[in-house]
Amino acid sequence: MDTEFKNSLLTEFKQKCRDKRLKITPQRTIIYEELINSTDHPSVDILYKRVKGKLPDISFDTVYRTLMTFNSIGIAEIVEGINTSKRYDGNTRKHYHYICLRCGKITDIYDIAFKFEIPEIIKEKYSPSSVRVFFEGICENC
Ligand SMILES: [Zn+2]
Ligand SMILES: [Zn+2]
Repeated sequence: MDTEFKNSLLTEFKQKCRDKRLKITPQRTIIYEELINSTDHPSVDILYKRVKGKLPDISFDTVYRTLMTFNSIGIAEIVEGINTSKRYDGNTRKHYHYICLRCGKITDIYDIAFKFEIPEIIKEKYSPSSVRVFFEGICENC
C-alpha cells in the first residue's frame, strides 16, 4: 500500500468517524493505522498483539470492539474464511481475495476481468444488497 493511498484511507477514516459522530481518539487512530499497515488481513488476535506494541494497556476486547465498529461504519471489511478465524481488511479499494486452505494466507487480487452476475433464480425471489466472492485453494508457497 503506497503512502498516498494510506493517506486517503486516513482521511476517509476521519470523515466516516465525523459522519457517525464517533470520537477520533488516539486509540482508534492507532488501531486503524495498524490495520491499514497490515497487508496480511490479520485476525483480531494478531492485530491485538501489534497494537499492544504501541498501546501496552489496551485490552483484547477493546481491539475487537473497535474493529466491529470500523466494520459497521464501512472502513474495515471482515474476510470470512472457512476453518479460520475472522480476518480483517482495512483496504476498501475494490479487490478480491484468494485464501490458501493450507496456510491461511490471504492474497489481494486486483483488476481482474471477473464480474459476478447475480443468477436469475436469485433475482426473481430476492434482492441481495451485496455479494461476496472469494477464491480458495492452495497458494504458491504451499
Ligand atoms: Zn499457503
Ligand atoms: Zn484484501
